[in-house]
Amino acid sequence: MTKRNTSTLLAQLGNRTDPRTGAVNPPIHLSTAYEHPGLGRSTGFDYARTKNPTRALLEEGFAELEEGDAAFACSSGMAAIGLVLSLFRPGDGILAPEDLYGGTYRLFEHYRRQYGIPVDYLPFDDPSEVERSITAGTKALFIESPTNPLLQEIDLEIYGKIAKKHGLLLIVDNTFYTPILQKPIVLGADIVVHSATKYLGGHNDVLAGLVVAKGEDLCGQLAAHHNAEGAVLSPFDSWLVIRGLKTLPLRMRQHEANAREIAERLRSEPSVKEVLYPGRGGMLSLRVRDPALVAPLLENLELIAFAESLGGVETFITYPSTQTHADIPQKERTRRGIDDSLLRLSVGIEDADDLIADLARAFELARQKIGNTAVPAT
Ligand code: PLP
Repeated sequence: MTKRNTSTLLAQLGNRTDPRTGAVNPPIHLSTAYEHPGLGRSTGFDYARTKNPTRALLEEGFAELEEGDAAFACSSGMAAIGLVLSLFRPGDGILAPEDLYGGTYRLFEHYRRQYGIPVDYLPFDDPSEVERSITAGTKALFIESPTNPLLQEIDLEIYGKIAKKHGLLLIVDNTFYTPILQKPIVLGADIVVHSATKYLGGHNDVLAGLVVAKGEDLCGQLAAHHNAEGAVLSPFDSWLVIRGLKTLPLRMRQHEANAREIAERLRSEPSVKEVLYPGRGGMLSLRVRDPALVAPLLENLELIAFAESLGGVETFITYPSTQTHADIPQKERTRRGIDDSLLRLSVGIEDADDLIADLARAFELARQKIGNTAVPAT
């Protein structure tokens, strides 16, 4: 087939793959078993844990999108990271940024204690320091870019070169930017993971994960363990992610346009001390001047939901210190800059003016509630 551009690939993902009926949209194949045409023969599908036609459409399309060789759809983003960790043996070390999704930190700590996988957390803003921390036991660099929740971009190309030089795997969690904004494999990564629960699904209605890898050996190992462990994505959930992906380019444009506008507006909001926005994507974090504002702010938002996820069409606000990053010990959290004044916004695709008005109103009511009506001194 001729090469298709991203919007075309995604808008038509899985379409016209059922010649028997001519169905434009892909059917959801619920069958777990597939009849063999004869002894030693297969239609390519034998048992649903190994391969399912609906899941295969998602996996093949997503591997093309991330420019990898194969993709593996998992039952959650954490199952996707768990699948990647199946590549590790006791003693195989990981270097990861300090600013990391709390659930990933929790899983890494489990692997460290239970299976002897050493994980070291470093600031990744200085590549030479990371390079100096590589030891004979290091097997991989595991990066989220931008980091979560401080939203600092990490230069994947530099770390791709470092990984290659030292024979390490570069693993990138691309949940926040998606392949619309960043293609880690093109920049030198070996493996990309996603919480497809976020932008890829896009509607806060499906829990899913994806792993994409480059290279026959890695893909073979991941395929074997995906089947062996079985945390695969169900046919219906695969279909929901396919449907979400069809509008991903459009949604990312709107998320980004709204986030830029809100970041700009929040910089002049009197109760906001700092806005953390990398200039791309739909995620931004902010620090309020007084942590006492947080509770009344959250209570007074009408459009923006206080909820613990991101990447959906509707705007969410999250309080990392008690939600996404609660599993990181408090002292450690504070040292990493995740303090009680930090809030994270997943900016949706609503009208930006409505979102800005909601924030301005809630900040005003929060100031009144804590008895601080004056604009604080800077
Ligand atoms: N990676 C990142 C960056 C996340 O934000 C999350 C969840 O919030 C995950 C992985 C885990 O994904 P899931 O919740 O789909 O298991």
